Amino acid sequence: MRHSRAEIEMKSLVSTKCSAFSHPEFRVDFDEDSILEHEPEFLIRMLEIKVQQGSIFSAGQTIEVGLSVLRVAADEPYLSLDEPDMRSFPIVFVTGVTQSLILLRHQHFVSGSFALDSEGEIPSFLKGALVCTNYAESPAFFMDRLEPMRGNDSGWFIGCCAGTHDHNDPRNLTRVSLYAAFLALPEMHQYVSLPVGYSVIIDPTRDPVFQQNGRRILPKPNSFLSERMELARKKRGNGA
Ligand SMILES: [Zn+2]
Repeated sequence: MRHSRAEIEMKSLVSTKCSAFSHPEFRVDFDEDSILEHEPEFLIRMLEIKVQQGSIFSAGQTIEVGLSVLRVAADEPYLSLDEPDMRSFPIVFVTGVTQSLILLRHQHFVSGSFALDSEGEIPSFLKGALVCTNYAESPAFFMDRLEPMRGNDSGWFIGCCAGTHDHNDPRNLTRVSLYAAFLALPEMHQYVSLPVGYSVIIDPTRDPVFQQNGRRILPKPNSFLSERMELARKKRGNGA
């Protein structure tokens, strides 16, 4: 099923280097008020490189871009891209790439806050996560990135911070896709680019706590996360 976001005036950018490889050019549609200029250009460049390297795309195929999954659609003479509506389960695709590029921006910013290169660390919506059965209802939650258990596992464990909830009891655990986890707990998307060994505790009453292999780490001064934490502190009216 495909819907259009008729209420948003979309801008488009078209690739130029695919036809030299007898491949249709791509058109990406986005809401220019929400997107930084280089973001659709980055996506177009990524697609052009894939085509130059021999990839052939056709309608219906999916492409993982950061956490999101884009679906190729035929819009003669172009191939356009659709993204999940970020509301429906299972995935319903809508025209454009705006929300996917915003998610990718946040993931790059969070990786950059720890001077990490996030390329290759961002699992897609289609990967799995182990969660506790209360993770989405709890005001505070934590995320631990472990070595992935099998091919489709992201390595992420997401649990509630209720000390009374036994996370060693398998009856309190379940496996979901990262898309399902994102719908239940949108805030998790910011941290999925953190690599194996990282963990974060998110409690709305205090600063997030980041750890690497059990050792507390702080985001770089003046980084995206530092500034977000500072802003949240001011809103809470405390220095916690
Ligand atoms: Zn729990």
